[in-house]
Order: sequence, then C-alpha cells, then structure tokens
Amino acid sequence: MRVAVAAPLAELFDYLPPVSPAPVALTPGLRLLVPFGRGRRVGMLLRITSRTEQDPARLKCVESVLDARPLLSPADLRLIEWAAAYYRQPIGEALFTALPARLRDPAPLLDERVPGIQATPAGLSVTLDTLNRAPRQRDLLALARAAPAGLALADLRLSLGDCAATLRALRAKGLIETCQLIPGLTPSLPPPVSALAGPALNADQQAAVNAIQGALGGFRAFLLDGVTGSGKTEVYIRLIEAVIAAGGQALVVVPEIGLTPQLRERFVQRLPGPVAVLHSALNARERERGWHRAALGEATLVLGTRSAIFTPLPRLALILVDEEHDASLKQQDGFRYSARDLAVRRAQLTGCPVVLGSATPALETLHNARLDRYAWLKLPQRAGRARPPTISLLDIRDQPLQAGLSSVLRADMRAELAAGNQVLLFLNRRGYAPILTCHACGWVGGCPHCDARLTLHLNPRKLWCHHCGWSQPVPSLCPACQGSDLRRLGQGTERLEDNLRPLFPEVSIARIDRDSTRRKGELDRLLGAVQRGEIQILLGTQMLAKGHDFPGVTLVGILDLDQTLYASDFRAPERTAQLIVQVAGRAGRAERPGRVVLQTRHPEHPLLQSLLREGYGGFAAVALGERRDAELPPFAHLALVRAEAPGESEPLAFLRAARVLAEGLIAAAEAPKIQLLGPIPAPMERRAGRYRAQLLVQCGERPRLQRFLAHWSPILRGLSRTRGLRWSLDVDPQEML
Ligand code: ADP
Ligand code: ZN
Ligand code: ZN
Repeated sequence: MRVAVAAPLAELFDYLPPVSPAPVALTPGLRLLVPFGRGRRVGMLLRITSRTEQDPARLKCVESVLDARPLLSPADLRLIEWAAAYYRQPIGEALFTALPARLRDPAPLLDERVPGIQATPAGLSVTLDTLNRAPRQRDLLALARAAPAGLALADLRLSLGDCAATLRALRAKGLIETCQLIPGLTPSLPPPVSALAGPALNADQQAAVNAIQGALGGFRAFLLDGVTGSGKTEVYIRLIEAVIAAGGQALVVVPEIGLTPQLRERFVQRLPGPVAVLHSALNARERERGWHRAALGEATLVLGTRSAIFTPLPRLALILVDEEHDASLKQQDGFRYSARDLAVRRAQLTGCPVVLGSATPALETLHNARLDRYAWLKLPQRAGRARPPTISLLDIRDQPLQAGLSSVLRADMRAELAAGNQVLLFLNRRGYAPILTCHACGWVGGCPHCDARLTLHLNPRKLWCHHCGWSQPVPSLCPACQGSDLRRLGQGTERLEDNLRPLFPEVSIARIDRDSTRRKGELDRLLGAVQRGEIQILLGTQMLAKGHDFPGVTLVGILDLDQTLYASDFRAPERTAQLIVQVAGRAGRAERPGRVVLQTRHPEHPLLQSLLREGYGGFAAVALGERRDAELPPFAHLALVRAEAPGESEPLAFLRAARVLAEGLIAAAEAPKIQLLGPIPAPMERRAGRYRAQLLVQCGERPRLQRFLAHWSPILRGLSRTRGLRWSLDVDPQEML
C-alpha cells in the first residue's frame, strides 16, 4: 500500500496491510496510523499496489485504520495530488492542509450523530385512532409523524418524559424505527421563500444566469466581469438556487468572510437548505463540523475562504469564486496554492462550470477571457437605479493640507455632510504616525529585526513593527542624543481620526482598520452603525475596499496612494488600480450617485490617467501591453525560490548553488527558453531577524516550466544548507517579497 505521511515529505511510503484484518475495506482516502522512524504517524492511503521499490523484507505493517470510511473520494485525491505536483509541494503536506486540522492527529472524525426515531411507511399510513387504547403510543407516533426528518431521542424525552417502553411497543409493531440524526443542522424543509425575496433580474444579469445555467453538467469557465453593484451576488444566488433545486451542491470561495458579514447573511437568508460556512475565524471544531456536513452531501452550499476549495462535495455542480482578483486567494506560506486557479482545475476534473467574478479582474483572468478560454460575461451597469461613481484627481502639490485633506476636499465633505450624506476616507496606513524621529540628531525609530521603521501607535501606546510584530515602549527622550524634541512624521488612520475631530466637531466619526476591529464583533457593530446612518464620516484602510455596501456614502476621499504607485512589485499598478476602483465602488450604491476624489502629487501618472479616462478595462488593456513587452505574467510564467537565514551571505550562497544546478539542467535539456533572474536580496532584505533573498525562474511556456521544476526541485531538496537556512518554492508567485 502506498501511503502519504502527514509531514512535509515529497515521497510516498510503502506499507503492508495491518496484521489484524481492518474493519473496513482498504480504500484510498482512509487515514492510517503507521510506524514511522522511531515513532508513528498519521498517513493517508493513496494507492493499493503489490509492487514496491523497497526491500520487501523491511516493509512494516500499518498499525491501524483510523476512519470508518474514506475521508476523500478519488476525485478529491486527484485534485490534491494534482495541486501538490503543480505547486511542487510535498503530497503529505498538501493532503493534510486540505483536511480539517485535527485530523493530523490519530483522532477519529467528529461524528456527532445522535440517536433518534422516525415513523416507518406503515407508521405514516396507519390511522392514529387505532392506537386510542394506548394513548402514549398514539401521542408519540403523532410527534414522529410531524417530524419526517426524524426526532432526536433527547427531544422526545423532553416532551414525553421517559418513554422507553412506549418506543419498544411501537417498534415491535413496525410503526417507528430508530435512526441517526445530526444535531443543529437546519432542516431543509421550509419552502424557499428566497425566490420571492430577490429583485427581478435585469437583462444583463439574466443573460449571465442563462449562459451559466446552460453549461451546468459539464466543464466551462466563465469570467463574470461586473462593475461594483452590478448585481453579481444576485446572479450567484440564482445559480445556486438552480443547482440546489436540481439536487446538486455549490461551492463559493471568497477572499475573507470575516470582512464581509453582509455577503454571508445574504447567502444564508436567501438560500434553502443547510449552508456550511468555512473560514479561519471559526474554531477547529466548528470548521470540521461544516466540512463533514459537506462531505456527507448534507450541506447544499459551502461558503468558505481559500482552503474551502478542497472541501469534499459528492454532488458538486457549480464553483463560484468571488473577488477573484484578490491576492488573499493565494496561500503565501506552507502549501502555496491559488484557490482561484484550483477552482478552475477542480471544475475541469469534476465536469462542472466555474464562475470567476470581479469588478476588477486579475490581468491573468482577463487574458484568459480575451483568448476565449473563459466565456466573458459582462455586467457593465449598476443594478437597479444606482448610478456609477465619478472619479476625479485632485492635485495636492503646493496645497496646504489639514489632517492630510486639501481645502477642496474639506469643502466637498462639508457640503455632503450638510446634505445628510455620509463620507468615506481611505488611508491605507494604520497607526498614528509611520515615523518617529529626533529633530536634533535625525534618529529614526527602526525595528531591530527588520529593515523597516517602527510605526507609532497611541492606543495602545507603542512603537510597532508592522512586518514582524516587534513592539517597544515609546521613548520620551531620543535614544541617540537624549534630546527631547521627538517628532511624529506622517499620518496613519489613528492620527487622521484625531485630526478630523476638531475639523468636524459636530459629526460622528468611525475608524475601521485592523486595530479598531480587533475585538470580536466590533467590525459588525461598526458596519451596522454605518448602515443605520449613525456615523457620518467613516475612515479606514483597505478593509473598507472589501465588498461592503455603504448606500449612504456619496463622497469617497482617497488620501494617499502615491507610495503604492511607485512600489517595486510588478503587480503594484494592477493592485493600485483594483484598490481605487473597489474603494470607489463602495459609494452611491442606492439612488444617490457617488463621487470619488483622489488626492495625488502625480496627477500625470499614466496609470491614473488611463484609469480615469477609460475605467478599469482601459487600464487593464494598457497594463497587459506592458506585461507583454516585459515578458511578465500572463505572457510568461514565474516560479520564485525564496531563501532566508540568520546570516547575511547564506541565502545568497544557497541560491547561487541552486542557480548553478539549474543552469546545468537547462544546458543538458537544451532548454534555453528558461531564464533565471538573480539571486538578489529581497526588497526587504532583513525581516524578523533573518536575511532573505530570492531567485526568479521565468518561462514563456507553462508545461516547459513545469518539466523544469519537476527536475530541479528534488535536487534542490538535496542541496546542502547552512544551519537555520530555510527555503521555499512558490509557483505562480503573487508577491515578490
Ligand atoms: P455586486 O455583487 O455586483 O456588487 P450586488 O448583487 O451586491 O452587486 O447588488 C448590488 C445591489 O443592487 C444590492 O443591493 C442588490 O440587492 C441590488 N440589486 C441587484 N440586482 C438587482 C436588480 N436586478 N434590480 C434591483 N436591484 C438589484
Ligand atoms: Zn537625537
Ligand atoms: Zn520588525
């Protein structure tokens, strides 16, 4: 038997069947407890084979079988094995990342069925009056008949007291039978009032629904390219309704559920049947329960963050990825996979449609749509009567700023507030001030572990490193010269909030960023207050850009994006454009039109110009042209090897050795189309006390790159490493950090 062990090991291991016969047929997808080294490990059975490359005399037996039935179906295993091979990740790591965390331990899957009873067909058809001489039996049968999905014994005892004898009598007559029930599962009985609750679809929405619905039952990839507020979610809901009505299951993957409680509510309220919500804010037990329901086919809809892409779904009929451009769909450590790209692969393996939805599609996705690999569905207009926001640039060179706001923006804000509207201010920098410096000697508070400055926070009062989490007390005197003139430079959201209060003393202001929403439930509370109109000025970081609906907001001020315009990552322009359009999309969703004012010192910047003149589509066309010229994705494919170590020269030395090996392979395979760039120090070379470097591999053809990586990564694993050096391979990297 071939077994993948729950450890970051690329190989599979061979074992003999357990000595005592297993209680279940040995099937791939079962977890096993196997002897491993001097201990034992949990593993997963992948293949049954009678051949082995190991010495048969040294093969050990499986100790025990841990599950009563396979946790993963052959289709689930195919997807995960494919992902492990594509992303060059150890199969054991990939498999056990895909499963609920507790299952890395030899514990059994939580199976929380409780005993219950159900009326048999005879019990359903018998006339109750025939039981008049046994009133307790009659009453119990009446209760059972009222609950066709079954009645938990515990509930029964609550209403009838001890009724063991009565139950025995009814069972003897064949009127009831025992069954196993799942506690807490919402019964799927109530008729879907949902269809009534939704608005009538407009023509574009209807065309999208028709196209996708027509593709059910086979593989097809769609890009649902719809401006913010165009009713994409409404399209998803109609499609899921159709899937559920036909007895299928749907999978919806979103970037961050915690940030979009509204979306979750809409799905849960509008759709019939049990919904399993899977995200990282749930505790492990809750997540496992939802995962299990989905795997049993009981949850008709799974709504989850990226790891939900691996949820077993026996009747999977449709996959939706919302905000498909969002970088958080890519896992950035451990098993580095893209949930969006795996969604397409999974749909292909399953034979079902996949829909990628966004107002600002990733350039990779747009490229696929342009090549007709994805059917391109457009929702160019806002749904209902809402009108699109207008975006204008505000040149703030030489302008006096108060609280970082130009006088024009302040006047605009006053006018909107006076008219009873809400204002949203976007500043993508949390904390009070990004720099604390000594006016006498120029000392600047820096992180002792990173090449980064410490951000001043006043609540709680600390100097904080946003890269490694280091914090220290705020000095009252300069640590270098003991001078007392320490100055706070720049403005974060904390300071903006402080500075706004005296400027707008009569209105209520709320701040939304990671610091202000740390407490559980706080984000929901703030969003609710905004919805109810209790807050007039809402300010915050990119948390505000994520799918929220702020119908009362008519003015959005984007205070400072100039830094990101010139960031070094080649995806920076794309991310900046997406951020601007997404923030803008929060405004004026109801009947009140929205206006976006973007303060900048670079009004002539080509990115801003193309975005303004032609919207995101125009920007994307220009950006794709630049990517083509520079041979960057989607016109080339990348893999990034990162290395980090305590010593400055070690990561570079490791990567130089890796490069030599790669050059050998390329020369031997006569594969000149593979290019190596680097190694170079990472943009932030030192982070959390470790030096970092990277080596980039670039190739125009994906299969060629894959073949190269398949040869290179095993020998990289064998490369000698200095103490404490860690390295990783990232296929299709999203961030060049
Ligand atoms: P998106 O997901 O594209 O941002 P939503 O589905 O959230 O858009 O729709 C935006 C708003 O428009 C929501 O308040 C929604 O209820 C409303 N809406 C959607 N479709 C329609 C429609 N056909 N008619 C009227 N209102 C609609
Ligand atoms: Zn000083
Ligand atoms: Zn740091």
